[in-house]
Amino acid sequence: MALDVLQFSCLSDNYGFLIRCSQTGVCAAIDTPDADVIAAEADKMGWDLTQVWNTHHHWDHAGGNESLRQTQGVTITAPGSEAATIGHIDTAVSHGDTVMLGHQKATVMDVGGHTLGHIAYWFEDANVAFVGDSLFALGCGRMFEGTPQQFQASLARLKALPGETVIYCAHEYTAANAAFALSVDPDNAALMAYAKDVSAKRARGEATVPTTIAKERTANPFLRWDDPALRGHLGLETAEDWEVFAEVRRRKDAF
Ligand code: ZN
Ligand code: FE
Repeated sequence: MALDVLQFSCLSDNYGFLIRCSQTGVCAAIDTPDADVIAAEADKMGWDLTQVWNTHHHWDHAGGNESLRQTQGVTITAPGSEAATIGHIDTAVSHGDTVMLGHQKATVMDVGGHTLGHIAYWFEDANVAFVGDSLFALGCGRMFEGTPQQFQASLARLKALPGETVIYCAHEYTAANAAFALSVDPDNAALMAYAKDVSAKRARGEATVPTTIAKERTANPFLRWDDPALRGHLGLETAEDWEVFAEVRRRKDAF
């Protein structure tokens, strides 16, 4: 594979990611949950970290930017609409832009809802996407800034990616997400199997990230607004898609 991905734990439940073009050696960190850990991981791999690509402005995603700028001289690629909260940005990007990592091309996707300017980076050829706190394994980010209409449209864009797309989300929240998912979609056999697998992985201390779009389509209640059984459990048989999403999000906040 021409795109190398290194995933490692940061803080209490974040994942850090280093990505590298294997042909050119160009290396970037996706978000900066912990500058020291990120620098140490790059060092261990012998990768020359020169860039940071941010998904959104929260401290556990952009809080290490300044430190990595000072210690590693990285350049910052980030959503321009969140410049006021992210701080220094070298390359401001928005929906539809192309970002190159050496020879590897990523497309910027607007996935706003958790924060207004949240973006994802999709490497179409490598079948990989970094989605920050927009989509989680069996969940989605809290709706801090956006509206349910906006968030559902964002998740619809991710849901429409090829099924084999490998999804790197920024937190290990899957076990708690599975418990909630079963409460709103209790008859979903794919979800039951997925939840069992998550329990087993967590019991062994393994990560449940990454996931795939195909897997999430079958089991993630935040992507299943069009599913008759889920709608039935919510009593929303004739609601708009975004209304189904809004109700699932509301229930998760109270779960
Ligand atoms: Zn966040
Ligand atoms: Fe986060």
